[in-house]
Amino acid sequence: MRNEKKTEESLRGIMAREITGNPHAGAIIEAFRPLLLARARLLANEKWPAVTLTGFDPTRFGAGIPLSRQAQLFFAADPWEDMTEALTSAIGEGFPLISRDMGQIAGAVRGGDLDMFSYFGAPVDAGRDGRLVAAWAEGLSISAPVLDFLLRQLSRVVLEKRLPEAAALIGEREWRRGYCPVCGEFPSIALIEEKITRRWLHCSGCGHEWIFSRVICPYCEREAQQGMDFFFVEDRPRETAFSCDQCRRYLVTLKGVSELAERDLDITAMSLAHLDVIMQEKGFSPMTDSPWHVARA
Ligand SMILES: [Zn+2]
Ligand SMILES: [Zn+2]
Repeated sequence: MRNEKKTEESLRGIMAREITGNPHAGAIIEAFRPLLLARARLLANEKWPAVTLTGFDPTRFGAGIPLSRQAQLFFAADPWEDMTEALTSAIGEGFPLISRDMGQIAGAVRGGDLDMFSYFGAPVDAGRDGRLVAAWAEGLSISAPVLDFLLRQLSRVVLEKRLPEAAALIGEREWRRGYCPVCGEFPSIALIEEKITRRWLHCSGCGHEWIFSRVICPYCEREAQQGMDFFFVEDRPRETAFSCDQCRRYLVTLKGVSELAERDLDITAMSLAHLDVIMQEKGFSPMTDSPWHVARA
């Protein structure tokens, strides 16, 4: 697995490099910078409880049921208040238009009026309660999509923290699905290595990366005998978007990448956001909503 942890310092270096290589993505990366750095700091927080994941069933996993629908990955002892403080302040810094909303949420959690765990701690098979989000947003007089954006960021930090435990459970078991074995989301970006030409799919929901066939569409699982359609802008052949004519989805894909360069696929996806614009103009939809699609809306 390519789930190596990144320090704040290495993230700063990666962001600087990506902005130099793709200056047009500077504004997006700058807006997300406080959030990405806060995430790295939170992952290094000392208050995380040691947890044991239970409920994993290799048979159900083999049938395509992701870990998040078998084992509880969120715990009451997780540092919910620290996470809310840090993420609301980072999001407010990067996105001044919603900083007031972030302040409202932080205040409600601080004052004990909002318990984030009550949303995330629901039984794994129940799914997330959208009505709770709507009710919270109404109670705080903020927009539901803005609250949802924060909840997704909280979820990402906790799930990324759990990746080592998740990996230990999953082990070497095969996963031939286009959605994430840990959290069930579809990938936000793919990477094809230079020498071995394996395709890695990256999940922005939890940060997990897994290997997937290069000749099957991750979204609808159609197999293409003639190979896949890859769109790219002239003179930048490594920066591509895979597209599928059957499901009309696309997946931004970085090709021919050497294994040596340190990179962060969330940041790479931001630096290639111009491909999102082009593919959506061509009538294709992303496989998952990346945070900057949401933030833009
Ligand atoms: Zn995931
Ligand atoms: Zn497809």
